[in-house]
Amino acid sequence: MRNFSSDQIPIRRMTADSKGGVALRVAFIDTAVLSVLLAAACSLQAEDDQSVHHYLHKKEQPHAATWGYTGQTGPAFWGNLSPEYALAKTGRRQSPIDLHDALSQDLPPLKLQYRPSKIHLIYNGHTIQENEDPGSCEIVAGKRYELQQFHFHSPSEHTVDGRHYPMEMHLVHKTADGSVAVVGVLLQMGEHNHAFDALWRLLPDADNRQRDSDQKIDVSRLLPAVHEYYSYSGSFTTPPCTEDVKWAVLKDPVTLSAGQIEQFRRVIHGNNRPVQPLNGRSILLSGP
Ligand SMILES: [Zn+2]
Repeated sequence: MRNFSSDQIPIRRMTADSKGGVALRVAFIDTAVLSVLLAAACSLQAEDDQSVHHYLHKKEQPHAATWGYTGQTGPAFWGNLSPEYALAKTGRRQSPIDLHDALSQDLPPLKLQYRPSKIHLIYNGHTIQENEDPGSCEIVAGKRYELQQFHFHSPSEHTVDGRHYPMEMHLVHKTADGSVAVVGVLLQMGEHNHAFDALWRLLPDADNRQRDSDQKIDVSRLLPAVHEYYSYSGSFTTPPCTEDVKWAVLKDPVTLSAGQIEQFRRVIHGNNRPVQPLNGRSILLSGP
């Protein structure tokens, strides 16, 4: 059993099912098309997808092994499911991690340049994901990382001093040459958060796997007011668990109401990889 925090709502856990393959196919096609559009829009190099995330990798799809969060395809077995997933077992810089004993440093402020996007929500069997229109990005060390998608985990994947939050949001940014930066946002239970209303009204599920709307969502409104952050080098938290991902987990959480969390968990719950060993990595914390 994982150590869920006491403020979580007990709702049925999702189990791996055979429909995941169908869902993944939809995701691959969508994000592959999106990648092409992004590369064109940003006038970056031609697409050379050293894939860092199998959702983004159309040509890998026929070989992608089925994985899940429970049983014989659960996180403890990911590294054995496919040679492509070996890093899940052998990697030394894996995510998520427990955030503790962070070193306060004068890190540069996060440079998030987000603008509203139409809603393109998908349920892919592993998460609910919003594929973003081109135009939003994070600047890291002068380099432009395009926001491709954001998605959710329940409960949180990162823990803070051993404690899970009820949910976590991951904003996945990528350069055309394959560098990846992810911004994590911890979601705690509290006030109803109207910024999520437009998304939550359209939450897809196993029966309605894709929901699109011309209504625009401004991802910057989903973030906390203060952007102090934990910084470390890690990986994707799903197979193939590729490393060299620049993680920034915001220190301040945002709230969702109990009802909003429950609504999400009716679709998916238990899609969190357990925390991984630090293996000597340092965790930095911005701010004084
Ligand atoms: Zn994630």
